[in-house]
Amino acid sequence: MKVLVAVKRVIDYNVNVRVKSDNSGVETANVKMSMNPFDEIAVEEAVRLKEGGSASELICVSVGGQSCQETIRTALAMGMDRGILVKTELTPDDELQPLAVAKILKALAGKEDAGMVLMGKQAIDDDSNQTGQMLAALLGWPQGTFASKLSLEDGAIEVTREIDGGLETVSLDLPAVVTADLRLNEPRYASLPNIMKAKKKPIDTLTPDELGVDVTPRLKTLKVEEPAKREAGVIVADVAELVGKLKNEAKVI
Ligand code: AMP
Repeated sequence: MKVLVAVKRVIDYNVNVRVKSDNSGVETANVKMSMNPFDEIAVEEAVRLKEGGSASELICVSVGGQSCQETIRTALAMGMDRGILVKTELTPDDELQPLAVAKILKALAGKEDAGMVLMGKQAIDDDSNQTGQMLAALLGWPQGTFASKLSLEDGAIEVTREIDGGLETVSLDLPAVVTADLRLNEPRYASLPNIMKAKKKPIDTLTPDELGVDVTPRLKTLKVEEPAKREAGVIVADVAELVGKLKNEAKVI
């Protein structure tokens, strides 16, 4: 079974994101970029599937500018076999939207005859949490979103999902789309020899046009603003003072 893994290049999760002075978006110039953390988890899970003998070939895909090659190389160093860069100059957190990415992944899943698409539950730049669900709908495949455990048996896959009330386990027929949640696994660090080996692994470059996908944005961002500053807290002397403040100042009890 071939497994396709989607890896997005995003602002590193340690970076303090700044809004541009004209409120048109966030500053990405000279900012450290990394693989979306949930996608690292998806890559790790795919590598484990191959190590366990359930996957035959692992293909990672990134949609974006030329610099996404770096993200693909990281995934290759973690154990993916080959990469595909779908090149577009649209900005990744605004103009390149989940529906367009889902259509691209659909085209690639068909082209590669993938048995499973693994991806992150959400990209930490746009926080959309939409691409996996849209992809499953477009393909007509079952979806296991927010996966915290995954096991494969005879053409079906059991996915334990993190939901509000606890954990839910669903069984999906393959092919299927699975999106990774935080607790699915702990991604490995790429070793130096694997980083060197990854330099020789193939990366194909395609365009959305070549895949027959129209990536024109459907949504327009009107304004991006910093969240309101939180007011400083106060320390109360005792429970009576706390209850008094909740009653008379916050008026919540
Ligand atoms: P989102 O729906 O934007 O929160 O993204 C969910 C997941 O879709 C991400 O964790 C990635 O696995 C995948 N994805 C979204 N955008 C891209 C992209 N430009 N390139 C590759 N994968 C992407």
